[in-house]
Parts: sequence; structure tokens; C-alpha cells
Amino acid sequence: MNLLKAPQYFKAVSLAMVTLLLSGQAIAKDWLVDSPKAYKEILKKVKPGDKVVLANGTWQDFEILFKANGTKEAPIELTAETKGQVVLSGLSNLRIAGKHLVVSGLVFKDGHTPSNAVISFRRNKEDLAYHSRVTEVVIDNFNNPDKRESDYWVAIYGQYNRFDHNYLTGKRNKGVTVAVRLDSKQSQENHHQIDHNYFGPRPILGSNGGETLRIGTSHYSLSNSYTLVENNYFDRCDGEVEIISIKSGQNNIRNNVFFESRGTLTMRHGNGNIIEENIFFGNGVDHTGGIRVINKDQIIKNNYLEGLTGYRFGSGFTVMNGVPNSKINRYHQVANALVENNSFINVSHIQLAAGSDAERSAVPIDSTMQNNLIFNENAQQPFSLFDDVSGITFKGNIANTVAHKKLSSGISQQNIKLKRAVNGLLYPVDETFAKKGASKNLSPILKSATGPSWYPKSNSVVEFESGKIIKVNTGDDALFNAVLTANNGDVLVLADGDYDVRKMININKTLSIKAEHQGKAQIVFQRSTLFQIIDGGSLTLDGLTISGSSSPDSSGNTLIRSQKWGMVENYRLVMRNSTVTGLNTNHSFHFFDSGNGAFADYIELTNNHFSNITGDFLRLNKEIEDLGIYNAEYVILKNNTFDNVQGVIVNLYRGGTDESTFGPHLEMSNNVVKSSGKGKRNKTASSLYLHGVQVTNIESNSFENTAKVVIEHTVGEPKTVVKNNTASNATAFTIKELHASGPHTAVLLNNKQSK
Ligand code: CA
Repeated sequence: MNLLKAPQYFKAVSLAMVTLLLSGQAIAKDWLVDSPKAYKEILKKVKPGDKVVLANGTWQDFEILFKANGTKEAPIELTAETKGQVVLSGLSNLRIAGKHLVVSGLVFKDGHTPSNAVISFRRNKEDLAYHSRVTEVVIDNFNNPDKRESDYWVAIYGQYNRFDHNYLTGKRNKGVTVAVRLDSKQSQENHHQIDHNYFGPRPILGSNGGETLRIGTSHYSLSNSYTLVENNYFDRCDGEVEIISIKSGQNNIRNNVFFESRGTLTMRHGNGNIIEENIFFGNGVDHTGGIRVINKDQIIKNNYLEGLTGYRFGSGFTVMNGVPNSKINRYHQVANALVENNSFINVSHIQLAAGSDAERSAVPIDSTMQNNLIFNENAQQPFSLFDDVSGITFKGNIANTVAHKKLSSGISQQNIKLKRAVNGLLYPVDETFAKKGASKNLSPILKSATGPSWYPKSNSVVEFESGKIIKVNTGDDALFNAVLTANNGDVLVLADGDYDVRKMININKTLSIKAEHQGKAQIVFQRSTLFQIIDGGSLTLDGLTISGSSSPDSSGNTLIRSQKWGMVENYRLVMRNSTVTGLNTNHSFHFFDSGNGAFADYIELTNNHFSNITGDFLRLNKEIEDLGIYNAEYVILKNNTFDNVQGVIVNLYRGGTDESTFGPHLEMSNNVVKSSGKGKRNKTASSLYLHGVQVTNIESNSFENTAKVVIEHTVGEPKTVVKNNTASNATAFTIKELHASGPHTAVLLNNKQSK
């Protein structure tokens, strides 16, 4: 056997012999291992330059400790026999400790970490990783089954580590996706490099703790980090209001793309950070934001921001007010910020001195905004000023709109025409503006240039009606069986007739159930619930007639519910063109009941008729801890009739005072609500009970003989509009501020209320 021929695999079993043959020789070896036991044995023997190779296949419940010391010239590697074909599943994770280590090619999926990190750059508090690298590793939906249980997917400790070309997608449980920790001297001034990673969609968490990247914490935020974050692609990272939360000094965030991501890059704590050459594409998606500036010596230059709709702290660009002599965890004053040569194109909101209030009274000082390009197609100038901004010098900026009158000396209105260049970005056609806004040399990182090449970047959400059309007839259990065998995205088309459903139907895929002819497919059901949406499920119902008349004669039935507890995946629920009646076999028969901790991306009900319901209609109020954990992001009711619903039509509750989320939202228009909300078991004594809802629009509805609408504003400057409604109740709309003093901030317009 030729020992010098590479690559060579040495089975763990032949270790003794191999060692003997090679004694005294420094030949790098590849060790193929096929069990955790073999891995442990080999790890005792590895030398600089060696490679530990995990055999292809699924490794169940494997907690890898990769502790070794390579050298700069000869690192020690841990890799896959074939990249992408080594899957860590079950209760698995990876800890790296030592120097000059490289990990590559592994996939974490179908499980979760039993510890507080999937990948940790340390063994324990004393034993950290240095000069080490994790590259081409995938973490795909590796979520703790308890969504409220917090963990990191990646926790970077030590110094001079690199995290690159990795693929992280679908984090659904609480906790930052990637955290750079500065919690000891050994992890500060770390010079880490985070580059070319693909941050795939992170669904809305529905509470704080959904950041995609955080560098530092407030406690160590006056320490410098020197972390470089460049050439990463953030694809729909929607977890919460902060996509990136910088909480340390001297970081450089450069040439990253933020694609349709809700939230902002926030310089929450720490000084002297440089934010440059980043590209934000909002494409008009709700709550897409840009950059938020706090603290001193921040440089924001040559960034390109387009199509961002966000407002308030989630704006396309925000400069905050600070707290005088701020505690380390509050808001330090903005001082010496330089904001130059950025392009703000169709950025709806630029907010200065934002957050100004009795506590946050320290206005920005010694700062400059210059040579920026501001363009708004709709001719609305984007600036809002919340306090004195004379501490920001404006010069050389251009805009196509009339400038805000207090800024007009530093923003000149110009006739600007834009053209999209080959790099995909818009630039003024007129060469005299060449020095304004972002540079023509920007080169946005391509999605395809991030993450490992061998793992497909598939769309995480299966669209409704993206699959096959399957006909279903009225035969025994035909609907139940059709749901069971359908695939993601399929449409079940129900033939005319009566469907007597004798088993609860679990929905664990994206499914549409439609009547072939509207109103001609009638469903009754014998269990306490007709449809239960469980993890992976989303449901559209269209054109059906559903009655509760065959349901058990006991209280607490529900037509539809989401899994009672432990749901990790967000769901969608749509009902259109349907009739639901007779949910009244006993008291408290609800239309929809959310499980504890379950979260709907949206619930949309259009053109339906609902009548004779003894319970509540939408129960989205399962938060009891008041930590700001809610049950639905968007609730949309359009053109429906509600007649004799004894309970509350919508109970949407978001408790607590945390401001890390954008929702929930309620859109209710053109509905007729009759004789509803007046049942004696309706503890809310209202037809709509909205607590802590952030965006509410109640428009052109009719409320007849119906309990009042109760709206309770909590924190976060909620936007509430109630207009063009008619009500047969003189006190139909009751709006309260629970935290702010003074009158409520809702807009009530043109509502007709009679006695
Ligand atoms: Ca946060």
C-alpha cells in the first residue's frame, strides 16, 4: 500500500498499525470515521494537517466536540465524506475549541440542539476557539420543538474566527440566529469575519428574540469587536424589528444584500461602526427597513436603499434621540455621525431625532448628512423631524421632491431622472449628479455567490394552489383520505353533495379545499373540531357550506383550530365565498381557536356569511404571560356578514411592553355585523377586542345591534384608523391608551352612530 498517495482513508480499527508505520513521519492523514466512538478515538490522535472525515449518512444524536490544535500552515479539518451528505439530526450540535481548526460540509436538519447553541466556537467558558473556520455548513429548520425555548444556531466566541459560505434557514424558535459574543476578554477585539453566508427566510417570530445577527450585548457594548460582516445575503429575514443588532464598537458591515427583510440594521449599542456599500431591496414589502443610528462616531456611507416602506424605528433610515447620561442599556446620544453618499430611493420614511420624549431628550450632535440622493416617485418627501436637528449639518444632498422646510438649505430639489444600471441599481441619468448618492461601482453580492454551492436555496413557503388538482366525492371518509394523501400545494375540489365528516382532519401541509360549484358542497362534522392545523399546515377553504349541526352536544367545539400547544411553524388560514352556520349545538362553539404559542402569518376571510355561533369567532388571545407574544401577524376580514355571533368576533391580544415586533395588524372593511357580541359568556363584552394591536384599520363596516368595539393601545405608537362605519350604538367605538397619557391617538373619521 502506498502511504503517500492522497487522499487516504484510515479506518479507526487499523489505527494502531497505521501509527506504527508512520511513526516519526509528519504525513497529513485523512481519517474516515463512521461512528461517534471512532470519532472520539481519532480525535486523540490527530496532528496538524490531518483531516477527520465523517462517513456519509445520517448521524443521529451526535454532539460533536472538535477540540484540537492545528497550525497556521497545517490546520486540522473536520469535514464530510461528501459535502452535503453528512446529516446531523436528532439531538446534535458542534463545539469547536483550540486553534486553526476548519469545519466544512455538514448539514444540521431534522432535530435540534439540546444545548444553547447548534454550533459554538467554544467548549466551555475557559476553552474557546481561535483562528478557526466554519465553512459550507447548513443549518436548516433545526428548531427546538418548544418555540419559546431560546438557543443560538451559531455562537461565535474567541478571536480571529471565520464563518463563511454557510446556509442558515428557517429558524423558528426564539433566539438569535448568529451571535458574536464578547462576554470575556478572550472574545473581545475579536477580528472575526462573517462572509458569504446565505441567511435564508426567518419567519416572523411574534415576539422579541428573532434577530438574525447580533454582535455583542449591551453589557459589553463599550468594548470593541472589530468584526467584519461582508458579502452576506439576508433573504426575507423577518424574525423581529432588528435584522442585525450591533451592540459593540468598531465593526464593519459591508456589501451585504438585504432582500425583502422586515426590520433594520440597528447600531443599538457601541461606537465607531462603519456601515458601507450595503444594498437594501424592500420591493414595497410591509415593514422593510434600512439603517438605524444610535451612539457616536458611526459612519454610514455609500449604501443603497430602495423600496423600503418601514416607519418609526423601522424606517428606511432613522437617527435616534438619546437619553442624557444614558445607562449602558438605554439610548446613548448620537454624536459625530457621518452619513454620506447614500441613495434613498422610494424610501418612505427617514426619521430624525426619532424617539424624542421626556426620557430621550438628547438630540443628535456634531453630525453630518452630505451628498445623499433622495428620490421618491410619489413626490412625498420622506423626512420626519421629532426634535431639534440643528446638530446634523446638511449639505450637498439632492432630492426630486420639495425638501422639508427645516432642511431645505442642505437638500436641493433637482429634476432627477433615474435609470437602472447593469448592477441592478438606479442612478441619475444626469452626469452632474454623479457624485451624489451611492457609487456606480457597487456590486451587490449575488444570492448564488453565498452559502455552499451544493445546497439548493428553495422557497420556504409553499404557495396555495401550487400543486395538483384532485377531485373528491362525497363517499365515506373521501375528504379525510384525500387530505391524508394530498401533497403540499394541492387543491381538493369537492363535488356537489353532502359530506359527513366523522374524524377530525389534521392539516399538516399547504392545502386548498374548494367546492366545485360554490355553495353546493355541504359539510357537517361529528367531532369537536373539523379542521386542526398542525405544524406544516396552511389551509384555504373556498365556496363551502359548513354546519355544526352534527357536532357533539357539549360546550367548547371549534370549527377550525390550530394545534393546541407546541406549534413551531407559522401557518396561513384563508376562507372565501363560504357559508358557516349552526355552530350552536351547545354553548361556546367557536369558529376558530388559536393554540397556545401558535402563530398565523395571516388569517384572511373574504365574502363569507357566518351565522348562529354560540362562541367566539376568532380567538387570537392565548398569551397569558404578557411578554409580547401574540398569535397572528395579519388578520383580514373583508365583505363578510356576521349574524348572531354570541361571543367576540375578533379577540386579538398582544400583551407586554416590548417593542420588538411590528404586529399584530387588523384590517376589517365592508363587513356587516348584526346582533353579535352580546352573549352572556362573552367576557370581553365587545364585538371586537383589540389589545396591543399595532396597526388597525376598521373601515366601511356596519355594526347593528352589536356590542361595542374595544381598542386598547399599549406601547409602540399604534396606528389606528376607524372610518366610514355605521353603528346602531352611540358608543360603538371605545379606545383607550393604557400607557401613554393624554387623549388616544386613534383617527376616528366619518362614522355614523345612532341611538
Ligand atoms: Ca430584539
